[in-house]
Amino acid sequence: MIFLIMVVVILAFVALWNFDLHKIIYVKTLTRNAGDGAALAAARWQGVSLNLLGELNVAQAVAINNALVANPQKPDFSEARAIADLQARVCFAGPMLGFAAAQQAAKNNNVYVDTNFTQEVLAHASIVQNEYPALYAPPYSTAWSDYANMINTVAGDGIAALPGAQSPYTSMHHMLLNSAFYRAIASQNWCWFYNNAYTLLQTYGGWQTWAPLPPLARRSIITSEYFPLNVTTEPSLDDLEYTFGNSAATVLQQLGAAHNPPVQWSPAVAQVGATWYCYEPGYWTTWDAVIQSNRQANAGPFPFISTIRPQYNYGGADAGLTVRADAPPTLFNQKQYAVTWVVAAKPFGYLDGPVSPQTYGIILPAFHDVRLIPVDAAISPFADDAFSYGASWIEHITTHLPVYMQSGPAGIQGLAASCGYCAALITWENPGFRQTGLTWLQQYSTNCIVHGPGPGGSGGTSHGH
Ligand SMILES: [Zn+2]
Repeated sequence: MIFLIMVVVILAFVALWNFDLHKIIYVKTLTRNAGDGAALAAARWQGVSLNLLGELNVAQAVAINNALVANPQKPDFSEARAIADLQARVCFAGPMLGFAAAQQAAKNNNVYVDTNFTQEVLAHASIVQNEYPALYAPPYSTAWSDYANMINTVAGDGIAALPGAQSPYTSMHHMLLNSAFYRAIASQNWCWFYNNAYTLLQTYGGWQTWAPLPPLARRSIITSEYFPLNVTTEPSLDDLEYTFGNSAATVLQQLGAAHNPPVQWSPAVAQVGATWYCYEPGYWTTWDAVIQSNRQANAGPFPFISTIRPQYNYGGADAGLTVRADAPPTLFNQKQYAVTWVVAAKPFGYLDGPVSPQTYGIILPAFHDVRLIPVDAAISPFADDAFSYGASWIEHITTHLPVYMQSGPAGIQGLAASCGYCAALITWENPGFRQTGLTWLQQYSTNCIVHGPGPGGSGGTSHGH
């Protein structure tokens, strides 16, 4: 059985090398564009991971079918369960390999390890190791220690290209839910405000003027938060009908068509309790819809150069990251400024039709390519968005913020001694503090450079949502 699984995995990986990506990455290496190369490497692993989940869905269906044929009275589904367990691991290991590959691509392009990036990733590994077991149910028994070890391994070699990490809360589009905002206050990082919240800094009118907090839904963490795949699981094929509008028969037909030779299914396969890896509908909707939901209310439609072909019009998963390098000294004062590149890439593919990969809800092997995409069209979090994950952050946003929204800084005064986020909010409420920032920026905002990639690049821009 284990042998069979290994064969499936190896076959899947062999099939996936059809990706015409080595070439793309090689060309990008020649342009010395570290951010692009890193983002493409990470997105490629997202595509590989999704294809592998698809291959394993097919293998799981075959295993269930075989068990039903072999012993209809008392079928043995242990092989199918072992395949699902492997999928649970792929959801973390695949994107983390992308994280590692992105570092290699960045370093090959002469971008060096950034101490702050490395510290940030190491800090997250420690939260996963020490706090996650109490906060989140592990998707498999050793998930949190495995995941923490993987993060530590990647960070151990030093981080040169930093992705954002996806928040375990579904709605984070509010400044008070962005931990980067609090960090910028605490460290008086006025450039952060200049690049991300300049209007807020200029026009803030007091705590009563915040938009209401959106409802916070906490979801379980079943894939790596770095380069997340945005997948979910369904307990039987019959359930898919309610989630994605496809009958179990249609889904089975697709699973059979993805197998070589095509499989004749026992119809009972659909009813067997299993763990099917599926696309999470909130992310795998049309790309324009996802982009719009990420944009400011008054920003208008996203300015795509041409219309997106229907089979590519999905949000899904993409890889956004930040690299930083010192620019050459300026001619005027010989000062060196850090240049930050923010870039994004995304796996692309389609199923026969052509139709987009998520058409049937269930994950099937579909991804053939990766491309750079405009940063503002990316749905993945960026390092700038720096959400926090530890128990103290969860306590702040779930219990302290409602008090603040109700009664302002007076209400959280007593909490500030033990909560750094509350302390930062009280600082923020002081008009003198905000004026200090505005005065500084009047003089020094040119220091706050955010650069897209140089000539030859296509995906990067300053990032500010
Ligand atoms: Zn607090």
